[in-house]
Amino acid sequence: MARKVLLIGLDCADPRLVFDLWRDDLPNLRRLMEQGSYGRLRSSDPPITVPAWTSMMTSLDPGELGFYGFRNRADYSYDKMGLATARQVPPRTVWDLLGRVGKRSTLLGVPQTFPPRPINGQMVTCFLTPSTQSPYTFPPELKDEVEAAGGGEYIFDVSDFRSEDKQRILDDIYTMTERQFKVFRHLLRTKAWDYAMMVVMGTDRIHHGFWQYCFPDHPLYTPNNGLESSIHDYFVYVDGQIGQLLAEIDAETLVLVVSDHGARGMDGGICVNEWLIQQGYLVLKEQPQGIIPLEKAAIDWERTTAWAAGGYYARLYLNVAGREPQGQVAPADYERVRDEIATRLAALGDEQGRPIGTFSVKPQEIYRTVRNIAPDLIVYFGDLAWRSLGTVGHGVIHKFENDTGPDGANHDWYGLLIAYDPQRPQGGRRLEDRQLMDMAPSILREFGVAPLPDMQGQPIDW
Ligand SMILES: [Zn+2]
Repeated sequence: MARKVLLIGLDCADPRLVFDLWRDDLPNLRRLMEQGSYGRLRSSDPPITVPAWTSMMTSLDPGELGFYGFRNRADYSYDKMGLATARQVPPRTVWDLLGRVGKRSTLLGVPQTFPPRPINGQMVTCFLTPSTQSPYTFPPELKDEVEAAGGGEYIFDVSDFRSEDKQRILDDIYTMTERQFKVFRHLLRTKAWDYAMMVVMGTDRIHHGFWQYCFPDHPLYTPNNGLESSIHDYFVYVDGQIGQLLAEIDAETLVLVVSDHGARGMDGGICVNEWLIQQGYLVLKEQPQGIIPLEKAAIDWERTTAWAAGGYYARLYLNVAGREPQGQVAPADYERVRDEIATRLAALGDEQGRPIGTFSVKPQEIYRTVRNIAPDLIVYFGDLAWRSLGTVGHGVIHKFENDTGPDGANHDWYGLLIAYDPQRPQGGRRLEDRQLMDMAPSILREFGVAPLPDMQGQPIDW
């Protein structure tokens, strides 16, 4: 009996929504849970799309992979950034290893698969694909088929999903999702596969666009806003699409539903560079006129100890003598300064000084190795309830809007895992919490393929 595995990735899907809150409204996911097993999957550090999916599919941590987000410092200059694309992904993903033993894979939308590279099978690249003008399939000639099967131009991502034009975003999310599922069903039907994996990005985009309208505990929530059911309704829609996929597969196929991290409301933002300025760690030559990105500010590097970048977490860098062009922190003081900043950040409360539970991690302490240029500190404001705002010119430290466009959701530590093997029903067994690096060896085991010796994860008994 030929083993097949179908993995449906729901980017940012939170276990609390699927397992508890909306369980009864999602008949297909509920059936997979009730007949299979399910549990939580701890995300990567940091819990963001890049590097999370690649960490899951290689069973290597971000330090070993050498990227810590989509944008990373390319060298120790102050401004050169590089993008983590498929070129940075080592050729040892689940599908690479399956290809070596002759197993065929079908991939659609798996983050960090652009630009496409040859696999034993076929793929449509991910949300980081610039446009349909780029090569986005393997084999290249698959492109025409994708356009025809999707019933319109293929959509990789919702453009400008942090916008006030909510109806446009909703329409785009649905159109994108519909075409992606259509194409994926077409590929499942028409191409030979042993492993098939699709990642839905709409689940992430709808959280960021609509969380503040849907959950009354969000600080920006207002009743009767007309969008209260937008995330719920989209999950119901995705569940229906999953039902159509399940109708395509046979009784030998193991079905996995996975997310790369969870989601939670955003309580606010910490203007991390404003804080560094107030503490004397960052010095500007002149006060910014209005709110500007730090890259546009006149930084007095000869008097600067540290600076940081924004996002769901802060990437904080020290200005180290002999490392950065105008480094100031003596190497002998590096650990002391790093600890001092981490301690002071942990003491930073909300706008009224109440504790929020900020903590920082050192890459050298959480990764097995640290390749390329990691931040000196990874800072989680309010344990991910607060975002890091990198812009300067605010004059305050606490803000209640994102600085790169309206966004109501932050990421959270736990994603979800549902496993259903028709040959081994589990009756809704609840799994212990696992880490997403456990996924690659678990999938390989289904095909009798040994994990690579340096894979960090352990197979899950699902
Ligand atoms: Zn994600």
